[in-house]
Amino acid sequence: MQKINSRRNFIKETGMAGIAAGVGLNVLPSVVFAKSVGILSDYTQQPLPYGYNALEPVVDALTMEIHYTKHAAAYAKNLAEACVAEKVDTTNTPLNGVLRNISKYSAKMRNNGGGHYNHELFWKCMKGGAVTKPTGTLATAIDQAFGSFDAFKTQFSEAGKNRFGSGWAWLVQTADHKLVIGSTPNQDNPLMDICELKGTPLLGLDVWEHAYYLKYQNKRVDYMNNWWNVVNWEFVASRFNP
Ligand code: MN
Repeated sequence: MQKINSRRNFIKETGMAGIAAGVGLNVLPSVVFAKSVGILSDYTQQPLPYGYNALEPVVDALTMEIHYTKHAAAYAKNLAEACVAEKVDTTNTPLNGVLRNISKYSAKMRNNGGGHYNHELFWKCMKGGAVTKPTGTLATAIDQAFGSFDAFKTQFSEAGKNRFGSGWAWLVQTADHKLVIGSTPNQDNPLMDICELKGTPLLGLDVWEHAYYLKYQNKRVDYMNNWWNVVNWEFVASRFNP
């Protein structure tokens, strides 16, 4: 008990110091912070599972680099700050647990907890190399739920296209194991208790302009159409619970 308490105090103090140091200086990246205090890994930005150019030509290397090192890194950093301010026990409470109760937290926690979770999932939902398709029980479930893989893609793309402003398109598995497609605004996601679309996100597509603007400018639909060529269906299938 003594050890746990002292570790928590250390986290609290170090976290507060991190915020203080970060004001105006933008120092202490969340990864360094987390490694120093033993935070659960789902609160921190993990190494990108491929190089910045791995998804070329679908996602250009500069977009990947800025997206990962600036946008996503900022969500992780701001999440760490919110966790300290709102006393989240990041050594024992998985991020999922915070998201499921997000109505009890601040807008900063909602935006950055969602932003961090969504991007960590998004990187894993993509891969370079050969184009793949769903297989096995996931392929069967997609066919049953949407009619065919092509019909699924059309419906998913519609969800992304019709999301006004910034947000995400999702393939979600509901609590009763159904597959559904939907979208969320900003950095909300289907784990959140405030979200109309509820369930476990299996596949997420970032339709914020920062995800595609350098290469596609206003052509979100072109980005979404090309994106199917980099979806990592093996990863998506690993999240599916038949
Ligand atoms: Mn993004």
